[in-house]
Amino acid sequence: MDLTGLTIDSARSAVAERKTTATALAEAFYAKIEADDPKIGAYLILSKERGLAKASEIDRLAEKGDKLPPLAGMPVGIKDVLVTKGIRTTAGSKILGNYVPPYDCTAVTRLEAAGAVVLGKLNCDEFAMGSSNENSAFKPVHNPRDLSRVPGGSSGGSAAAVAADIAIATLGSDTGGSIRQPASFCGVVGLKPTYGRVSRYGLIAFASSLDHIGPFGKTVKDAAIMLRTIAGRDPMDSTSAEVPVPDYVAELDKPVKGMKIGVAKEYFGEGLDAEVRNGVEAAIQRLAKRGCEIVEVSLPHTKYAIPAYYLVATAEASSNLARFDGVRYGFRAKDVRSLSDMYRRTRDQGFGAEVKRRIMLGTYALSAGYYDAYYLKAQRVRTLLTRDFEDAFKRVDVIVAPTSPTAAFKLGEKVDDPLAMYLADIYTVTANLAGIPGISIPVGVTKEKLPIGMQIFGKHFAESTILRVANAYEKAA
Ligand code: GLN
Repeated sequence: MDLTGLTIDSARSAVAERKTTATALAEAFYAKIEADDPKIGAYLILSKERGLAKASEIDRLAEKGDKLPPLAGMPVGIKDVLVTKGIRTTAGSKILGNYVPPYDCTAVTRLEAAGAVVLGKLNCDEFAMGSSNENSAFKPVHNPRDLSRVPGGSSGGSAAAVAADIAIATLGSDTGGSIRQPASFCGVVGLKPTYGRVSRYGLIAFASSLDHIGPFGKTVKDAAIMLRTIAGRDPMDSTSAEVPVPDYVAELDKPVKGMKIGVAKEYFGEGLDAEVRNGVEAAIQRLAKRGCEIVEVSLPHTKYAIPAYYLVATAEASSNLARFDGVRYGFRAKDVRSLSDMYRRTRDQGFGAEVKRRIMLGTYALSAGYYDAYYLKAQRVRTLLTRDFEDAFKRVDVIVAPTSPTAAFKLGEKVDDPLAMYLADIYTVTANLAGIPGISIPVGVTKEKLPIGMQIFGKHFAESTILRVANAYEKAA
């Protein structure tokens, strides 16, 4: 049996039917990581001891004939912005290079409680700031579909690990597209839930009003299984919502016939690569063939989304990252002359260039005299964008769009042009600003065999609906 090629759905049955063991599964993944990851760079830290201990716990349950939990023995990887007790957590930054957290992130606690085996921590852009994974302080990630290209970012390691079969599924975070864009670049499924659907407790904060945790999987069903496990109210995160979590898996196969699919012209304008456009349009036609009604909608404020996002995100980042001062966490500069010198040198040596750029932009946007012109204005635009979606969702059930304007670009191609890099998020930041759920699914490849991703947006807390549409597409394809 090709253990590392299995989906959660099939691996779970193999463990339950005793065709394999959780230990064999974990060992197969560790062997493949050892063989293949040196050229991909998806993992920063392996948690073998903890992973194998969990696997043998599952095997003991199986031997006794006990009922197995829903993710029994499933080997998962965790983006390194989610804290793990006793396992180094770096956020891709030198400033947290030696940080060992004293507690677990709720999403990880829930995965392990459901029987999952944590293989290790996955590479990402520093503090999740980036669209190509080239901002990791440790190493870039290479796209498994074409090693000369980026996997997307910031959850590049999470997407690449699933695409390369070195994790069965993974967790990532999405502040402006960091789950959906890498999922699209690597040809896997990635879901950003509604704001409040998944607890952010233990997620190292980038921009708290935009940050989300969500799953990557090989199939829509696997993403649904992962989401079902991590979703739901958590007393440790006051923004986590008291909204009941439906059984996403049970609802997957409900028919989509008669559903109204919105297509917004603002997502098909200038800058969209022709092959990506064709791929997404063909996918929309497939949904039409399944009996969905295609409806044109308008989201008129979309053009302001990137500037609004880069104001709100940097403002919140400048405040969240103030805590990294060399006193409480991780790295501290040596040979300092005074307290303020220590702060300055620690932050200068500990943060990378992109993180510094964002702290400066955010501090500027929040400073006296500029607050109204920038931050306040961006918040108003955010309200308008949210209303755009609310209006559109009065007429349609979901909205579809390309995930990214292009397929995966080459490593090094955009590193010297931050603005070009920021524009990679043009179709994804809107869902973060509005707090609505979005999923990216693979819908084909370009002539160069690079994956194309399509996004499906839904109303607040309508993850079930977007998963259903995604599943209908996946089945039809
Ligand atoms: N690429 C976007 C940025 O750099 C989004 C990052 C994210 O979602 N974490 O801010």
